[in-house]
Amino acid sequence: MHNHKALRIALIGYGRMGKLIEQIALERGHTIALIVDEHSSPEVFSSEALRSCDVAIEFTRPEAAEHNCQHLIQAGVAVVSGTTGWAEGVSRLSNMVQQGQGGSFFWASNFSLGVNLFFEAARRLSSLMHSYSTYTPKIQEVHHIHKLDAPSGTAITLAERVLSEQSALVGWHLQSDEAQSAPDSLPIHAIREGEVAGIHSISYRSAEDVISLRHEAFSRRGFALGAVLAAEYAAQHSGVHTMQDLIAKL
Ligand code: NAD
Repeated sequence: MHNHKALRIALIGYGRMGKLIEQIALERGHTIALIVDEHSSPEVFSSEALRSCDVAIEFTRPEAAEHNCQHLIQAGVAVVSGTTGWAEGVSRLSNMVQQGQGGSFFWASNFSLGVNLFFEAARRLSSLMHSYSTYTPKIQEVHHIHKLDAPSGTAITLAERVLSEQSALVGWHLQSDEAQSAPDSLPIHAIREGEVAGIHSISYRSAEDVISLRHEAFSRRGFALGAVLAAEYAAQHSGVHTMQDLIAKL
Protein backbone atom coordinates (compact mmCIF):
# COMPACT_ATOMS: atom_id res chain seq x y z
CA MET A 1 0.00 0.00 0.00
CA HIS A 2 2.78 2.45 0.93
CA ASN A 3 5.93 2.49 -1.18
CA HIS A 4 8.20 3.13 1.81
CA LYS A 5 9.33 0.96 4.73
CA ALA A 6 7.02 1.09 7.77
CA LEU A 7 8.97 2.71 10.61
CA ARG A 8 8.91 2.55 14.39
CA ILE A 9 8.96 6.21 15.35
CA ALA A 10 9.73 7.88 18.70
CA LEU A 11 8.05 11.27 19.11
CA ILE A 12 10.08 13.63 21.28
CA GLY A 13 7.73 16.52 22.13
CA TYR A 14 3.98 16.01 21.98
CA GLY A 15 2.69 19.54 21.47
CA ARG A 16 1.09 21.17 18.43
CA MET A 17 3.64 19.65 16.01
CA GLY A 18 4.11 16.29 17.78
CA LYS A 19 0.36 15.52 17.65
CA LEU A 20 0.06 16.43 13.97
CA ILE A 21 3.17 14.38 13.11
CA GLU A 22 1.60 11.40 14.88
CA GLN A 23 -1.54 11.70 12.70
CA ILE A 24 0.41 11.89 9.44
CA ALA A 25 2.84 9.12 10.44
CA LEU A 26 -0.11 6.79 11.15
CA GLU A 27 -1.72 7.74 7.81
CA ARG A 28 1.55 6.74 6.11
CA GLY A 29 1.55 3.31 7.78
CA HIS A 30 4.16 3.96 10.51
CA THR A 31 3.96 3.03 14.20
CA ILE A 32 4.45 5.50 17.05
CA ALA A 33 6.43 3.26 19.40
CA LEU A 34 7.31 5.86 22.06
CA ILE A 35 6.23 9.36 23.12
CA VAL A 36 8.56 11.51 25.23
CA ASP A 37 7.66 14.90 26.68
CA GLU A 38 9.07 17.18 29.37
CA HIS A 39 7.62 14.96 32.13
CA SER A 40 9.33 11.75 30.91
CA SER A 41 12.11 10.22 33.03
CA PRO A 42 15.68 10.89 31.78
CA GLU A 43 16.11 7.08 31.72
CA VAL A 44 13.94 6.98 28.60
CA PHE A 45 17.10 7.76 26.56
CA SER A 46 18.72 4.47 27.60
CA SER A 47 15.51 2.40 27.31
CA GLU A 48 15.00 -0.63 25.11
CA ALA A 49 11.79 1.04 23.87
CA LEU A 50 13.87 3.84 22.37
CA ARG A 51 16.60 1.58 20.98
CA SER A 52 13.89 -0.41 19.16
CA CYS A 53 12.88 2.71 17.17
CA ASP A 54 14.19 3.40 13.65
CA VAL A 55 13.92 7.16 13.99
CA ALA A 56 13.01 9.89 16.48
CA ILE A 57 11.19 13.09 15.50
CA GLU A 58 12.03 15.94 17.88
CA PHE A 59 9.84 19.09 18.09
CA THR A 60 10.31 20.52 21.59
CA ARG A 61 11.83 23.78 22.88
CA PRO A 62 15.07 25.60 22.03
CA GLU A 63 16.66 24.89 25.44
CA ALA A 64 15.84 21.15 25.38
CA ALA A 65 16.72 20.25 21.78
CA GLU A 66 20.49 19.78 21.98
CA HIS A 67 20.33 17.53 25.03
CA ASN A 68 17.53 15.47 23.43
CA CYS A 69 19.20 15.08 20.02
CA GLN A 70 22.59 14.22 21.50
CA HIS A 71 21.09 11.44 23.65
CA LEU A 72 19.01 10.13 20.74
CA ILE A 73 22.07 9.89 18.48
CA GLN A 74 24.00 8.17 21.28
CA ALA A 75 21.14 5.65 21.55
CA GLY A 76 21.74 4.79 17.88
CA VAL A 77 18.44 6.23 16.62
CA ALA A 78 18.24 8.42 13.49
CA VAL A 79 17.12 11.95 14.47
CA VAL A 80 14.86 14.44 12.70
CA SER A 81 14.58 17.74 14.56
CA GLY A 82 12.44 20.73 13.70
CA THR A 83 12.95 22.67 16.92
CA THR A 84 14.10 26.21 16.13
CA GLY A 85 16.19 28.72 18.08
CA TRP A 86 19.28 26.57 18.90
CA ALA A 87 21.57 27.28 15.91
CA GLU A 88 24.88 26.74 17.73
CA GLY A 89 23.73 23.38 19.06
CA VAL A 90 22.70 22.35 15.54
CA SER A 91 26.26 23.03 14.29
CA ARG A 92 27.82 21.20 17.25
CA LEU A 93 25.67 18.12 16.65
CA SER A 94 26.21 18.21 12.88
CA ASN A 95 29.98 18.28 13.51
CA MET A 96 29.69 15.42 15.96
CA VAL A 97 27.85 13.26 13.40
CA GLN A 98 30.13 14.33 10.52
CA GLN A 99 33.30 13.64 12.48
CA GLY A 100 32.65 9.96 12.25
CA GLN A 101 30.78 9.30 15.47
CA GLY A 102 28.07 7.80 13.25
CA GLY A 103 24.34 8.39 13.34
CA SER A 104 21.87 10.26 11.19
CA PHE A 105 20.86 13.86 11.90
CA PHE A 106 18.30 15.84 9.86
CA TRP A 107 17.50 19.35 11.05
CA ALA A 108 15.44 21.95 9.17
CA SER A 109 14.07 25.31 10.29
CA ASN A 110 11.10 24.54 8.06
CA PHE A 111 10.05 21.15 6.71
CA SER A 112 7.43 22.41 4.23
CA LEU A 113 8.11 21.76 0.55
CA GLY A 114 6.55 25.12 -0.43
CA VAL A 115 8.77 27.06 1.97
CA ASN A 116 11.87 25.36 0.59
CA LEU A 117 10.84 26.28 -2.96
CA PHE A 118 10.22 29.82 -1.68
CA PHE A 119 13.79 29.87 -0.23
CA GLU A 120 15.15 29.05 -3.68
CA ALA A 121 12.94 31.71 -5.36
CA ALA A 122 14.13 34.28 -2.77
CA ARG A 123 17.75 33.39 -3.48
CA ARG A 124 17.20 33.90 -7.22
CA LEU A 125 15.37 37.22 -6.67
CA SER A 126 18.26 38.39 -4.46
CA SER A 127 20.77 37.40 -7.11
CA LEU A 128 18.81 39.53 -9.63
CA MET A 129 18.53 42.54 -7.27
CA HIS A 130 22.18 42.45 -6.27
CA SER A 131 23.24 45.11 -8.83
CA TYR A 132 20.40 47.55 -8.05
CA SER A 133 21.39 49.46 -4.94
CA THR A 134 18.33 51.78 -5.03
CA TYR A 135 16.31 48.81 -3.73
CA THR A 136 16.59 47.98 -0.02
CA PRO A 137 15.72 44.44 1.12
CA LYS A 138 13.67 43.60 4.21
CA ILE A 139 12.25 40.36 5.64
CA GLN A 140 8.95 40.17 7.50
CA GLU A 141 7.52 37.18 9.37
CA VAL A 142 4.19 36.72 11.14
CA HIS A 143 3.45 33.85 13.59
CA HIS A 144 0.99 32.86 16.32
CA ILE A 145 1.38 34.37 19.79
CA HIS A 146 2.60 31.06 21.36
CA LYS A 147 5.87 31.10 19.39
CA LEU A 148 8.86 31.38 21.76
CA ASP A 149 11.65 32.53 19.41
CA ALA A 150 11.95 35.66 17.24
CA PRO A 151 12.86 35.95 14.47
CA SER A 152 11.56 32.57 13.32
CA GLY A 153 14.06 29.88 12.30
CA THR A 154 12.53 30.11 8.82
CA ALA A 155 13.20 33.86 8.64
CA ILE A 156 16.83 33.22 9.65
CA THR A 157 17.24 30.58 6.90
CA LEU A 158 15.60 33.02 4.45
CA ALA A 159 18.05 35.75 5.55
CA GLU A 160 21.00 33.38 5.04
CA ARG A 161 19.84 32.66 1.45
CA VAL A 162 19.46 36.41 0.73
CA LEU A 163 22.86 37.23 2.29
CA SER A 164 24.53 34.57 0.16
CA GLU A 165 23.63 36.70 -2.91
CA GLN A 166 24.11 40.21 -1.45
CA SER A 167 27.79 41.03 -0.89
CA ALA A 168 26.90 44.52 0.46
CA LEU A 169 25.16 42.91 3.46
CA VAL A 170 27.20 41.32 6.23
CA GLY A 171 24.44 40.02 8.53
CA TRP A 172 20.83 40.39 9.71
CA HIS A 173 19.16 41.94 12.76
CA LEU A 174 15.75 41.88 14.42
CA GLN A 175 14.24 45.18 13.36
CA SER A 176 13.23 46.36 16.82
CA ASP A 177 16.87 46.03 17.90
CA GLU A 178 17.91 49.66 17.24
CA ALA A 179 21.45 49.19 18.54
CA GLN A 180 22.30 46.86 15.68
CA SER A 181 20.60 48.76 12.82
CA ALA A 182 23.37 49.29 10.31
CA PRO A 183 23.01 49.82 6.55
CA ASP A 184 25.00 46.64 5.87
CA SER A 185 22.59 44.53 7.97
CA LEU A 186 19.36 42.95 6.66
CA PRO A 187 16.34 43.85 8.87
CA ILE A 188 13.88 41.14 9.94
CA HIS A 189 10.56 42.38 11.28
CA ALA A 190 8.84 39.76 13.50
CA ILE A 191 5.10 40.09 14.25
CA ARG A 192 3.15 37.88 16.69
CA GLU A 193 -0.64 37.71 16.28
CA GLY A 194 -3.53 35.26 16.72
CA GLU A 195 -3.03 31.70 15.49
CA VAL A 196 -1.09 32.47 12.28
CA ALA A 197 0.71 29.27 11.13
CA GLY A 198 3.47 31.22 9.38
CA ILE A 199 3.83 34.05 6.84
CA HIS A 200 7.25 35.04 5.45
CA SER A 201 8.09 37.69 2.90
CA ILE A 202 11.14 39.29 1.39
CA SER A 203 10.66 42.70 -0.20
CA TYR A 204 12.90 45.07 -2.14
CA ARG A 205 11.76 48.67 -1.76
CA SER A 206 12.82 51.80 -3.69
CA ALA A 207 11.41 55.34 -3.48
CA GLU A 208 9.13 54.41 -6.41
CA ASP A 209 7.90 50.87 -5.77
CA VAL A 210 8.25 47.56 -3.96
CA ILE A 211 8.88 44.01 -5.22
CA SER A 212 7.76 41.27 -2.81
CA LEU A 213 7.87 37.49 -2.64
CA ARG A 214 5.65 35.93 0.02
CA HIS A 215 4.85 32.49 1.44
CA GLU A 216 1.84 31.80 3.63
CA ALA A 217 1.24 28.41 5.29
CA PHE A 218 -2.51 27.67 5.63
CA SER A 219 -1.87 25.27 8.54
CA ARG A 220 0.96 23.32 10.20
CA ARG A 221 0.16 20.23 8.13
CA GLY A 222 2.82 20.97 5.49
CA PHE A 223 5.52 21.13 8.19
CA ALA A 224 4.36 17.85 9.76
CA LEU A 225 4.20 15.99 6.43
CA GLY A 226 7.72 17.20 5.58
CA ALA A 227 9.00 15.99 8.96
CA VAL A 228 7.58 12.50 8.34
CA LEU A 229 9.12 12.41 4.82
CA ALA A 230 12.41 13.51 6.43
CA ALA A 231 12.10 10.63 8.94
CA GLU A 232 11.61 8.15 6.09
CA TYR A 233 14.77 9.59 4.49
CA ALA A 234 16.88 9.79 7.67
CA ALA A 235 16.05 6.19 8.65
CA GLN A 236 17.65 5.04 5.37
CA HIS A 237 20.70 7.34 5.24
CA SER A 238 23.45 8.02 7.77
CA GLY A 239 25.14 11.43 8.09
CA VAL A 240 23.84 15.01 8.21
CA HIS A 241 20.88 15.88 5.99
CA THR A 242 19.01 19.00 4.87
CA MET A 243 15.77 19.73 3.03
CA GLN A 244 17.83 20.24 -0.13
CA ASP A 245 18.82 16.53 0.04
CA LEU A 246 15.20 15.48 0.56
CA ILE A 247 13.75 17.68 -2.18
CA ALA A 248 16.32 16.35 -4.65
CA LYS A 249 14.83 12.87 -4.03
CA LEU A 250 11.11 13.80 -4.29
P1 NAD B 1 4.50 23.16 21.62
O1 NAD B 1 4.79 24.12 22.71
O2 NAD B 1 3.08 22.96 21.17
O3 NAD B 1 5.08 21.72 22.00
C1 NAD B 1 6.34 21.52 22.57
C2 NAD B 1 6.35 20.14 23.22
O4 NAD B 1 7.68 19.88 23.69
C3 NAD B 1 5.43 20.02 24.44
O5 NAD B 1 4.65 18.85 24.28
C4 NAD B 1 6.38 19.83 25.64
O6 NAD B 1 5.87 18.89 26.56
C5 NAD B 1 7.59 19.22 24.93
N1 NAD B 1 8.84 19.42 25.68
C6 NAD B 1 9.30 20.55 26.29
N2 NAD B 1 10.50 20.31 26.87
C7 NAD B 1 10.80 19.02 26.59
C8 NAD B 1 11.90 18.18 26.90
N3 NAD B 1 12.91 18.61 27.65
N4 NAD B 1 11.90 16.90 26.43
C9 NAD B 1 10.87 16.43 25.69
N5 NAD B 1 9.79 17.19 25.38
C10 NAD B 1 9.76 18.45 25.82
O7 NAD B 1 5.41 23.63 20.37
P2 NAD B 1 5.23 23.31 18.81
O8 NAD B 1 4.34 24.32 18.18
O9 NAD B 1 4.92 21.86 18.64
O10 NAD B 1 6.70 23.66 18.28
C11 NAD B 1 7.83 22.96 18.75
C12 NAD B 1 9.09 23.49 18.07
O11 NAD B 1 9.01 23.24 16.67
C13 NAD B 1 9.33 25.01 18.20
O12 NAD B 1 10.72 25.22 18.33
C14 NAD B 1 8.84 25.54 16.84
O13 NAD B 1 9.49 26.76 16.49
C15 NAD B 1 9.26 24.43 15.94
N6 NAD B 1 8.56 24.34 14.65
C16 NAD B 1 9.31 23.96 13.58
C17 NAD B 1 8.72 23.73 12.35
C18 NAD B 1 9.57 23.22 11.21
O14 NAD B 1 9.04 22.98 10.10
N7 NAD B 1 10.88 23.01 11.44
C19 NAD B 1 7.34 23.94 12.20
C20 NAD B 1 6.59 24.34 13.31
C21 NAD B 1 7.20 24.52 14.53
